[in-house]
Amino acid sequence: MNDDKTGIREAIEDGVGIAVPDGDMSLLIPQELASAYDADRAAPQQMTQAALAHVWIHTRNWVELAEQEGMRVFDRGEGEFLYDVYGTQYIDGLSGLWVVNAGHGRKEIAHAMAEQAAKLAYVSSFAFTNVPAVQLAQRIAQFTPGDLERVFFCSGGSEAVESAMKIAKQYQVLKGYGKRYKMIARRGSYHGATFGAMSLTGSRTPYEKYYGPLMSGVRHVAWPNCYRCEFGLTYPSCNVQCARAVEQMIEFEGPETVAAVIAEPISTAQGTVVPVPEYIPMLREITERHGVLLILDEVINGWGRTGKYFATEHSPGVVPDLMTMAKGLSSGYAPIAAAVARPGIFEPFSADAKSAISHGITFGGHAAAAAAALKNIEIFEREGLVERAATMGAYWKTGLHDLKKHPTVGDVRGIGMLWAIEFVKNKETKERWGNDSAFIQCIKRETERDGLITRTGDIVQLAPPLVTKKETIDRITDILDRAITAAEHAEGITTGM
Ligand code: PLP
Repeated sequence: MNDDKTGIREAIEDGVGIAVPDGDMSLLIPQELASAYDADRAAPQQMTQAALAHVWIHTRNWVELAEQEGMRVFDRGEGEFLYDVYGTQYIDGLSGLWVVNAGHGRKEIAHAMAEQAAKLAYVSSFAFTNVPAVQLAQRIAQFTPGDLERVFFCSGGSEAVESAMKIAKQYQVLKGYGKRYKMIARRGSYHGATFGAMSLTGSRTPYEKYYGPLMSGVRHVAWPNCYRCEFGLTYPSCNVQCARAVEQMIEFEGPETVAAVIAEPISTAQGTVVPVPEYIPMLREITERHGVLLILDEVINGWGRTGKYFATEHSPGVVPDLMTMAKGLSSGYAPIAAAVARPGIFEPFSADAKSAISHGITFGGHAAAAAAALKNIEIFEREGLVERAATMGAYWKTGLHDLKKHPTVGDVRGIGMLWAIEFVKNKETKERWGNDSAFIQCIKRETERDGLITRTGDIVQLAPPLVTKKETIDRITDILDRAITAAEHAEGITTGM
């Protein structure tokens, strides 16, 4: 054990935990979990059964999990690889859910969290802050574009979006524009699962059905999806109509009623849509001209995923009024997120002795989570992970674009370590197969059988950790190539060369 890890040593000496040796590092496991730690490894089937009996998996169909695919319980991770309770290795092709940017098994992050938790885990976020949260706020201000510098901490991406939206709405009221309450979002976007974030999300049908009526005052416009342009136009002759549609909506609603526009720089969860270069700068110019705030949602894009610290940086000079971040901020080692504001946005909240934000979250700026994020950022810098994402992404682009030789690969799009492949029945008509079709299910089965975990539907999402080795990148491409070929053969389609 490292001598400087006194927090851990003390915890062990105090009987609070045991150290699980691993090379020259040790991982602290609480005493009461120690026996389970070994027992769990000895009994993968019982573990799977227990998962089926007690865990409610988010968003998934239960029958599919329980009776068809089987519940998969993971036990450990290393770099870009995951190992389930049976010891089977998988490539984590989606970094969990676009989360584990620094890769799995970073013991120094675990140590940083353990040390911080042993020293001080929590103080009220409604009244105080703590040392790692202050340091993290400074680091975030250092890395975010322009003068984004005021950090409102929360625990996850939905809370970050919820917070940014409330900050925008309250800002408008405090500035004397009480009628500016509407939010403009884009179809095809994903902003989260809490009520406000869900209402902003651009696919209302599944949510409206069960949870409606959704939040009022939200308007949706076209998203910048060139492959399936809602206007039937082609870039550049389209004159970036998708950005102009935002202005048309603001004007139609009346600028004096609109609080903010929210957009992911690269809309990911529903399709990985990289906008044309003019799009984000146009959103900035349009919103500014109408006194509407711009929130850029970097929950997936942020912290290196696109080959820049933030995807906003692909539009040099653009600074949103508010930016949201989560996932890659701690690479998933702890739940931590933030809504980050410019000084001008914070100003009315700090103008006099009565001003305050009417919104708080208990775990915002949790000390152990902040310690994890700080160590994560230190690793990013030390290992040049963001630059690596850019270089590896440029390499991968060629391999992924080669897959267009398949008659069923309609589009390949992405940047850095954020990619998507869209399947079609016919490249001319762009007709979809459907997520439940035999073709898509065959691709899903084949990729998983070959050890690649990702999210497969009409669009396959790809976002392995930024540390992924070149040979693993090639392996992912090969696995996909084989799976697509198998699915095409099953449909009687001749694979192109
Ligand atoms: N915003 C964006 C752009 C996202 O992609 C997501 C989740 O994928 C969220 C917000 C919600 O984040 P969370 O699931 O951490 O609440």
